Amino acid sequence: MVQDKSVIKGIVLSDLKNMGGKYVANWRVFKPEINLDECIACGLCTTYCPEAAIDPREDKKPVIDYRFCKGCGVCANECPKTAIAMKKEDEE
Ligand code: SF4
Ligand code: SF4
Repeated sequence: MVQDKSVIKGIVLSDLKNMGGKYVANWRVFKPEINLDECIACGLCTTYCPEAAIDPREDKKPVIDYRFCKGCGVCANECPKTAIAMKKEDEE
């Protein structure tokens, strides 16, 4: 069964920018960062993300919802342009 994340209730989001307000709590070690200049909008990262944490923008380039991203690195591994880098959570 696919969970409709829009109906998740009972989670307090705070300090989204720095803490992430992550539904994954604070245990993620690596986070993906997309270089949109390299991205060719193929959609593979969106397709393969096991958490459905990546959505396409209007121009088909991806946006990661870090509240759901577990930092598994599948998206970075699948990207044909190596446009996704996995960075330590506390790195800029
Ligand atoms: S690191 Fe994993 S969970 Fe996070 S966006 Fe990439 S594939 Fe999805
Ligand atoms: S897999 Fe790579 S090239 Fe394809 S949409 Fe995702 S970031 Fe862009």
